Amino acid sequence: MPKSLFLYNTAAAAKELFVPENDPVALYCCGPTVYNYAHIGNLRTYIFEDVLKRALMWCGYGVRHVVNITDVGHLASDADTGEDKMEKGAAREGKSVWDIAAFYTERFMADIVSLAVLQPDIWPRATEHIPQMIALVKTLEEKGFTYRTGDGIYFDTARFPSYCDFARVDPSSLRAGERVGMGEKRCATDFALWKFSPADSRRQMEWQSPWGVGFPGWHIECSAMSLAHLPQPLDIHCGGMDHIRVHHANEIAQTEAATGKKCARYWMHGEFLVLDKGKMAKSGGNFVTLSTLKERGISPLGYRMFCYTAHYRTPLTFSFEGALSAEQGLANLRKVILSIDKSRGGGVNIDYVDRALEPFADAICDDLNMPRAVAALWEGLRGDKLSGAEKLAFVREADRVLGLDLLKTAEDGGAAAEVTEEFNGCVITLTASGVLPQSLKDAIVERAARRKKAKAKRDFGAADKIRAEFTEAGVEVKDMPDGSTRCAVGDIGLAERVLAGD
Ligand SMILES: [Zn+2]
Repeated sequence: MPKSLFLYNTAAAAKELFVPENDPVALYCCGPTVYNYAHIGNLRTYIFEDVLKRALMWCGYGVRHVVNITDVGHLASDADTGEDKMEKGAAREGKSVWDIAAFYTERFMADIVSLAVLQPDIWPRATEHIPQMIALVKTLEEKGFTYRTGDGIYFDTARFPSYCDFARVDPSSLRAGERVGMGEKRCATDFALWKFSPADSRRQMEWQSPWGVGFPGWHIECSAMSLAHLPQPLDIHCGGMDHIRVHHANEIAQTEAATGKKCARYWMHGEFLVLDKGKMAKSGGNFVTLSTLKERGISPLGYRMFCYTAHYRTPLTFSFEGALSAEQGLANLRKVILSIDKSRGGGVNIDYVDRALEPFADAICDDLNMPRAVAALWEGLRGDKLSGAEKLAFVREADRVLGLDLLKTAEDGGAAAEVTEEFNGCVITLTASGVLPQSLKDAIVERAARRKKAKAKRDFGAADKIRAEFTEAGVEVKDMPDGSTRCAVGDIGLAERVLAGD
């Protein structure tokens, strides 16, 4: 359902109507540095970006989506000092930097898949774009934006007067009191475009350049890769809040100085996931991954649901209890959806479905307000204005943005699909690994109730006969202490053939 999408643009410090210049929409998202597992704080950003992409597609736009992989070492701090994360990761694990990069790239992509994040069109790797980075630094040099020090080629921010505009910082606050660790830099905001390899040691990743053997600065990677794969200006550039002040300010300076064109028209930033102790970071002890969550009974989609409890521009405080309750919320949602009676109330009138979707669409189009969108989904399911088939159509539409796989039961650690029915005074709970056809549901419930009555009358012959039918159909029957009956359907197709045939 096409709608007007309003997005918060960091560059304008305001919510703005999104009007793209490119078709498909050019979307660039800063990707991971692959020297360790992604923690769930990193992943929150990719979930927000995925919702954005899904919302764009839902609104009818084509999207060309690029997420870079930073597999070249860069220095641990924004100030171009400190240790190289990649080399550090390699030393920690006794592997080569190249092996570290390949291993954690694969792990990251697996995380993305399990979170149902749609794959970008291109995953450019920094190591595969060194010539483009060198060419970009050369352009900047020719235009007079660089200078050389003993350890590298630097961007001269004094030559880019609007440098401090994007992050809305006072230049004097940046430049004063930062003499320490500045080395030969002329100004605290200047940053490395190309670093020379140290004379006394060999790096595992280094390349020839017109300035000497070395490696690129971090920021130049994103400028070079977005220029290589997307039109300029980009329609939307995304990243985490922590990118605004340095990484994105630098990216804008480089790209705009080199091309004379705007870098991106809309900038969107996701807030942090916080623990009680503060921001989740790889450097501290607060390191929770998707595997940690799985050990505690929280599936990747349960975590996705947890992320929807806060707006993406609001810090979200993480706790295992909070995430478990989101997991339960998702299970409840699936249960309600699974119990929708498809045969109730006739076919699908698409106007009714669209009308029911209005509040959900309003929430999405109001800067991706997911807490409101989830509430609107529940509200739509509660009402009885829609037929069963319309409700399913409503869920299918909403799930295009939510990405919670709501019409399929989760196989990967998600809650099992469950539906509880009452029939002739018997309470019967059905579980299955997929959506049960209505006729099969009826057939199971009817037999389970009949068996229960037979047992109550001590007619064990009849009860055993029904149990044998269930066994043949691959349905496991269990009498529960609370008097209810649980029927677990193994293979839906087999059960249907045996029990629901005419
Ligand atoms: Zn970036």
